[in-house]
Amino acid sequence: MKPLQELTRPNIWALKPYSSARDEYNGAEASVFLDANENPYNQPNNRYPDPLQRELKNLIAPIKKVRSEQIFLGNGSDEAIDLVYRAFCRPGIDNVVAIEPTYGMYQVCADVNDVEYRKVVLDADFQFKADDLLKASDDNTKLIFLCSPNNPTGNNLSHPEIEKLLQEFPGLVIVDEAYSDFSSAPSFLRKLDSYPNLIVLQTFSKAWGCAAIRLGMAFASPEIIGLLSKIKYPYNVNRLTQQEAIQMMQKYYQIQRWVESLLEERGHLMKEFSKLPCCKHIYPSDANFFLTRVTDAKKIYNYLVGKGIIVRNRTNVTLCKDCLRITIGTRPENDMLLEALKDFEG
Ligand SMILES: *Cc1c(COP(=O)(O)O)cnc(C)c1O
Repeated sequence: MKPLQELTRPNIWALKPYSSARDEYNGAEASVFLDANENPYNQPNNRYPDPLQRELKNLIAPIKKVRSEQIFLGNGSDEAIDLVYRAFCRPGIDNVVAIEPTYGMYQVCADVNDVEYRKVVLDADFQFKADDLLKASDDNTKLIFLCSPNNPTGNNLSHPEIEKLLQEFPGLVIVDEAYSDFSSAPSFLRKLDSYPNLIVLQTFSKAWGCAAIRLGMAFASPEIIGLLSKIKYPYNVNRLTQQEAIQMMQKYYQIQRWVESLLEERGHLMKEFSKLPCCKHIYPSDANFFLTRVTDAKKIYNYLVGKGIIVRNRTNVTLCKDCLRITIGTRPENDMLLEALKDFEG
């Protein structure tokens, strides 16, 4: 890995961040707060939230087996994705490399930030070779985006190839693990201390059942976390979100039960789905969704919409011609999908 300073945009490295009232004083012992121009009425929403989300990070750290200085929290993973571009990629100069197909936000954030986005298409098993990504990179490649389990394909990426990239790529490797709770593969979080160029993304939106509260996590070295924290909006995670997440941490056992039940449903739905006449192929899944090639994706998508059932049509995505991405629901929801498709006449 190149020195972090060399990878960081010079203006960001030099940036003196905005210092909020709650940055300057965060002790609990005071009882009279006349420093932040808040309204003294309407407790508790009158107060600015903790800009560094300390209480929440201290609860997340032991569950994820990391130190709280290795955690960044943002308004969804999408905030972390945008911030890594803003921290490391000089607009119009630097570039990033990513697998294709994958999660669409990596390219959207590249386009917003005027950063060249280089795609390397996966093979027929939706796998990649580290060498191909390295070949696509050059001296101005700051980031490589990987997503494992990958969206929309549903499979884990090869761990030896990811490790090879971590060892050989001089920039930063982002491993998006939005779906890792559903995966049989271990998380890359346990490799954080071995690879200073690793950034792992996770989210409260999937296994935690909290897409509405908008809370994403990035895990990396304290130096990288420090850079992201310095350029984020001061109060990027609001108090309601922090409080709800703190409540969720108390019911961690509940999340594990949701995951177990969704994995069981995934087995059931994929088995029954594969028997449908419209199903040509089902790709293996390590996520809470699966990708399937059907006889006519557009027709089936529209047919299901007519029955009030919405799936994701991925037919226009690279390697995904006539593919639908189907999220695992409850047993009654999954059975409604199956019943509807049994009646489908191609
Ligand atoms: C759903 C998803 C996310 C989550 O994004 P949030 O902004 O945290 O809701 C991140 N990455 C991938 C690949 C996803 O599919």
